[in-house]
Amino acid sequence: MPNEISFWDQVNRHFDRAAALTGHDPRLLDQIRACNSVYRISFPIKRDDGSIEVITAWRAEHSHHKLPAKGGIRYSLAVDEDEVMALAALMTYKCAIVDVPFGGAKGGVKISRHDYSEDELERITRRYTFELYKKNMIGPGHDVPAPDFGSGPREMSWIADTYLALAPNDVNALACVTGKPVPQGGIRGRTEATGRGVYFGIREACKVPEDMERLGLTTGLDGKRVIIQGLGNVGSHAARNLQEGGAILVGLAEYEGAIYSEKGLDVERVLAHRQETGSILGFPGAEDIEESIRCLERPCDVLVPAALENQVTRENAPRIQAKIVAEGANGPVTADATEILKERGVCILPDLYLNAGGVVVSYFEWLKDLSHVRFGRMEKRYEEGAYERLADAIEAKTGSSFSAAERKLLIRGPGEADLVDSGLEETMVLGYQEVRGLQEDLGPDRTDLRTAAFVGAINKVAVVYQDLGIFP
Ligand code: NAD
Repeated sequence: MPNEISFWDQVNRHFDRAAALTGHDPRLLDQIRACNSVYRISFPIKRDDGSIEVITAWRAEHSHHKLPAKGGIRYSLAVDEDEVMALAALMTYKCAIVDVPFGGAKGGVKISRHDYSEDELERITRRYTFELYKKNMIGPGHDVPAPDFGSGPREMSWIADTYLALAPNDVNALACVTGKPVPQGGIRGRTEATGRGVYFGIREACKVPEDMERLGLTTGLDGKRVIIQGLGNVGSHAARNLQEGGAILVGLAEYEGAIYSEKGLDVERVLAHRQETGSILGFPGAEDIEESIRCLERPCDVLVPAALENQVTRENAPRIQAKIVAEGANGPVTADATEILKERGVCILPDLYLNAGGVVVSYFEWLKDLSHVRFGRMEKRYEEGAYERLADAIEAKTGSSFSAAERKLLIRGPGEADLVDSGLEETMVLGYQEVRGLQEDLGPDRTDLRTAAFVGAINKVAVVYQDLGIFP
């Protein structure tokens, strides 16, 4: 990365700025900042053509202040130790800020998934799981991976299946990984959770009249022009939710190029076009942008980088036109770019809060797997009965009847998907209020939302160490 500091150093620069506002003992801050353990693995796999290839992978556990440690596994050629440590650190702070009782971890496998067949990916994933198991770096109580860039429910089901084979007597074995398909102990709503959380976070930010006024924007999401980079798990679900919430998607960027239209782009149609043609480019009615990254500089109100880190740098930050940069990805805005955007009055909704929806719903999945019962199973029918009696009583007292459709809506008890969504929304709403409240307390002129989020996270981790009596 030319001229800018490494991802790990960037996270720590944010950390140090926030730490200076906390007044904690420097030794305690050193402990919180440090990455507790990093495991680097090399293992051979047999390719489909019979050749042998050595794969390099990592698992970093940044913090054990709460267990299990939690964090996704990234499949990318750009993965290295620095990146894995930085992402693991972000997980620690992310879990703290949304009150998910986990330490932070992250895994990385240095491959591009596009270069391997499904069978080869399965061999790589199962072997990686086996290597983690050998070192006690996977398990419901130690370290629980999840999907990240380049991995998804399919990989998580291979991980769960491998762990189950290695720990057949562990009754909680399915809680060794989250983001699994629902029939394998997954939870409804996990796949879309991060993108939906991004939507809730942006929606909350747009609700605050004085903040919107300062940015020169109207209150509410309706009509906000949005550009999204990355149409994978996070980006596509954020796009769907923002579109449904009244925003206009004016720009969509993928690695092969980007498209832009002031009139708005329908995300489902764009995804169908990409599926059909193999490219986002050439979408009817939209302008093609061959150099995808340039799309980020186009006119919009909200920019959502949801692909990778280091996308808004000191090079392009001066040209960003968005008033709000909403970090769907981890670390998409570098530390230098953060400074530039701040000076220009741009509001950054920081990754450690904004993309926490995934780990929130992963937490629910972990709880489900440990309790061995689906959310809503015990109470759904009971609640429906209670609402039914209430509806009957209202009808009897008023002398008028609900229509069949009204009654159906009124008496519906919550299923798993409803409860997960409600828990996710509650967490993202409270999280925003907490971070913004901290910013207010620290002095909005001195502190941005990222610093405020770091301060909140540091304080929550610090309490755990202080309670142990090790640090003052
Ligand atoms: P993904 O693999 O599902 O999607 C990434 C998308 O970005 C892909 O469509 C890919 O083609 C696209 N992309 C890659 N390089 C690009 C480029 N240069 N320009 C434009 N698009 C590009 O990954 P994901 O799970 O959506 O993760 C994306 C980001 O969100 C990562 O930073 C990840 O760490 C973060 N994140 C993911 C989750 C989760 O639950 N999956 C949770 C929190 C944070």
